[in-house]
Amino acid sequence: MLYLDNAATTPVRREVLEAMWPYLTSTFGNPSSHHTVGEAAAAGLQDARRRIADVLGTRAGDIVFTSGGTEADNLAVKGLSLAAIHRGRHLVISPIEHEAVAESADYLRRLHGFEVTTVSVDGTGRIDPADFAAALRPDTVLASVMAANNEIGTVQDLTALGGIARSAGVPLHTDAVQAAAWLPLGLDRLGVDALSLSGHKLGGPKGIGVLAVRGALPLEPLVHGGGQERGKRSGTENVAAAVGLATALELAEAERPDASVRVGALRDRFISRVLREVPGARLTGHPEHRLPGIASFVFPGTSGEAVLLELEQRGVVSSSGSACAAGSDDPSPVLLAIGIEPVVAQTAVRLSFTASVSQQELDDAASAVVAAVDSVAGIR
Ligand code: PLP
Repeated sequence: MLYLDNAATTPVRREVLEAMWPYLTSTFGNPSSHHTVGEAAAAGLQDARRRIADVLGTRAGDIVFTSGGTEADNLAVKGLSLAAIHRGRHLVISPIEHEAVAESADYLRRLHGFEVTTVSVDGTGRIDPADFAAALRPDTVLASVMAANNEIGTVQDLTALGGIARSAGVPLHTDAVQAAAWLPLGLDRLGVDALSLSGHKLGGPKGIGVLAVRGALPLEPLVHGGGQERGKRSGTENVAAAVGLATALELAEAERPDASVRVGALRDRFISRVLREVPGARLTGHPEHRLPGIASFVFPGTSGEAVLLELEQRGVVSSSGSACAAGSDDPSPVLLAIGIEPVVAQTAVRLSFTASVSQQELDDAASAVVAAVDSVAGIR
């Protein structure tokens, strides 16, 4: 089987599992306990926090561990907005945000009287910085724009958006869950004030995420209890998973420069072949500003689900684009936002890779895609 659905989730890397192991066995203490077993776990947690902060170019105290990317996005959007409610009730997001951001913004609209401005994207999924600037208002308390999209792989020009947000005095949050395996993540470099990560998208375990948020920004907690994570997120910390995330992130950071170039070239070769050999195939997302690990298409005149089944029969596992929307009959809001007709949006297929993918694997996958679409379209 060739697993090409790594944007949905990745296998845990051996180094990650080995780093986690002691914290599941010998060093199993509760990091809040005041004895040697607890203190050893607390030291591991603190070390993981510092290592993640180093990759993000921020302070260890700015790292809040969460249960994953979804919770990190919820904490960013709701926690930063609710803490700033005295300044206004206006939010700016993009139409291609993950549900964790979009639904959090909608919650604030429905229950807390927020107004949400959705800045449009172009046909490649990118925001025009001028449109972003025009959307910001004196009562805007937060803007949230994802670093890279999970369905179409488009990478935003966050540096430009961050500069605009800073001049307007508006904090900018970014969902970097998909970007983390591929793009440099420094908060300063990206020009953002808060950033979400998830372990299982980069060779770490499921059920662990991070919200990095600059310490000066007030954050209203969403999960109340024993006051862990400096009161920002209560609940006994998942120490082993935090260590796993730190290890996965450091590995990705070290491998990133070579992996991005190598996999980016393989992706381009794969995309060219599919576009050349599949009649009517269209690439979704930006042709250049896209994650090295995502190739996404629509195949007008077919059914995406049928193509996925045909691909699986040929040993290639992939998806329509969003694990959350898989199985839903509704066309993807991301594809509609980039101007794809609803009937064509139903034909989407996304293949997503890790840094270890080989040319042979992608050549095989391209042959499988050509054959699968042929079979569904009844060409042969
Ligand atoms: N944000 C993006 C862009 C994602 O792709 C995902 C995962 O599908 C999430 C957030 C949610 O992360 P998690 O699965 O850790 O809750």
